[in-house]
Amino acid sequence: MRLRGYHWRILRVNLSTGRWRVEEPGEEDLELFIGGKALAYLMAYREIPPGTDPLSPSNRLYFVTGPFSALVPGASKVTVLAKSPLTRLLNDSHAGDYFGPSLRKAGYDALVVEGASRDPVYIYIDSRTVEVRDASRIWGSTTREATRAIRRETSERASVAAIGPAGERLVRIANIIFDEERAAGRGGLGAVMGSKKLKAIAVLGDGRPPEPADPEGLRAEGEKWYNYFATSPRYGDLRTYGTTNALVYSASIGMSPSYNFETPGIPVDLAAKISGDAIKEVEVDPPWYIHGASCPIKCARYAEAEYKGRRFRVKPEYENLAMLGAATGVFDREAVLYFNRLVDDLGLDSISTGNTIAWLLELAERGLIGEEEVGFKVKGFGDAEAVERLIRLIAERRGIGAVLAEGVKRASEILGRGAELAVHVKGLEAPAWDPRGRRGFAVSYATADVGASHLRGWPPTTEPPSAGPAKEVVPGLARNRDDDALRDSLSLCRFVSYPSREIPGLYKLVTGLERSLDDLYRAPQRAEALARIHAALDWLVPPIHDDVPPKWMKGQPTGPLKGVAAFLSEEDKREAIREYYRVRGWHPTLGVPTPETMERLGIPWARGDAERALRAVEERLRAAGLEV
Ligand code: SF4
Repeated sequence: MRLRGYHWRILRVNLSTGRWRVEEPGEEDLELFIGGKALAYLMAYREIPPGTDPLSPSNRLYFVTGPFSALVPGASKVTVLAKSPLTRLLNDSHAGDYFGPSLRKAGYDALVVEGASRDPVYIYIDSRTVEVRDASRIWGSTTREATRAIRRETSERASVAAIGPAGERLVRIANIIFDEERAAGRGGLGAVMGSKKLKAIAVLGDGRPPEPADPEGLRAEGEKWYNYFATSPRYGDLRTYGTTNALVYSASIGMSPSYNFETPGIPVDLAAKISGDAIKEVEVDPPWYIHGASCPIKCARYAEAEYKGRRFRVKPEYENLAMLGAATGVFDREAVLYFNRLVDDLGLDSISTGNTIAWLLELAERGLIGEEEVGFKVKGFGDAEAVERLIRLIAERRGIGAVLAEGVKRASEILGRGAELAVHVKGLEAPAWDPRGRRGFAVSYATADVGASHLRGWPPTTEPPSAGPAKEVVPGLARNRDDDALRDSLSLCRFVSYPSREIPGLYKLVTGLERSLDDLYRAPQRAEALARIHAALDWLVPPIHDDVPPKWMKGQPTGPLKGVAAFLSEEDKREAIREYYRVRGWHPTLGVPTPETMERLGIPWARGDAERALRAVEERLRAAGLEV
């Protein structure tokens, strides 16, 4: 029986030719890879050869929904994936609200953007038409201006994914902003759009989502869960504060990114200046689209503030407040909210931008960089003036901004200093959770296929790293990683946290197929294995690159976990990473999936690639004079 809950339509738009076509996904592909994240990895694995220049027309951009999108409450996410210009790894990021559901209502499960246009364009999609339209008038505009201009030209109800000046200038930490506020933030995917001269994609969901297998059953379940998430006290904090309250929590447990990850355990009073109730004081009602679609929790908060005579609205989130505020040492609410607004408008990843600027401030603080090189005086941490200037310079690729626009790893290489202070994994800047507060959290960062991501699952523990070997919590990390990635593949928001045991039932109501949870988990496992093989065929040497920044191997200087590092020792770190390889069925020291594992995962066609990837890693290790 053909699976229900899909349109069975993938839209491909080629910007080199201006033509589009619709193709049907393979039946086995949907069964083995479900949708969303896992399906996006499969398509990219097949279509973006290792070695592809991320900013060339050969790179592709995937917007992929899962079968729950527009059918299950809280299934608001769309996976965006391309080869990252920042890390040169396949990189997924996820945006919420109504772009994904709109794509489904326009009649598509996924959109693939291929080639590159010569002149600026945007893509318009509804249930009857697909058009590649001129965008020269809005090239150079902010994400907000572009979104509003495109809505005026198309429909006020269109969902718009746009890049700002940063993406146009190929800034490697540029992101894609959906509907003025939501970001597919990581890996510089905005620069991929910029390289294709693609200013935006507008989707009007003026049709119907696909029919589920059991509409009545799904409606009843949907109602039950909607009411639960909308009223359960368990989600009260999320409904009240969104994620804005989390800095107080991360500071209290030694996990904040304060002062470029120098002082994770800052006083709670200090964190509270840009967190929770401080943000609540300036909260205003959100515009209609923020809480659109089907979300029962509605976590998004909206604030209005004034900074240097400029009145503005913004949607603050924990990562923005923590990375643009605590990481840079700026604890001035108005300034941090303004930085948040600025990065959204310019189309910059708030995590990577905050991280990279925090690194520069630390260089200045330590006397490793001066006024001549920066172009103006930087006082160090807490210099709000400098942070604002640097954000603008990065987006404009001007002066020192042209260096920082390359991301923290390349910036340290260009300047030839500060590599030991740069907090990234595989070139992706670390987000706002210092792993020195929880046992095994650093294993998640070290082994994540995209680099330092906070969305690759955490071990199920509240213990500090000093509580015992990190290796012990690795099996739980692998399971949680599968669970998170399954939700990404179904389009479910992580906050609308259906109990895992309920997912097979919902999957059956949508698709008509009966599958166990363990069977469903194999979809993201396949995607992770393919991502790793692709990376190894490209440039990754897992025994070298599966690692954490030096700062995290030092004990915390102050706070409740004074003296505690991310691991007990170097040996503890290596053992934990090798345990991850073992749990996944990867080569025990090379960290690449074996041909037998690909067979076991039900994708024997990838055996040959796994063999080649293993040999490639061996050869690179030998060439580097390292033990194989
Ligand atoms: S909980 Fe928040 S992020 Fe998740 S779907 Fe609802 S509004 Fe969006």
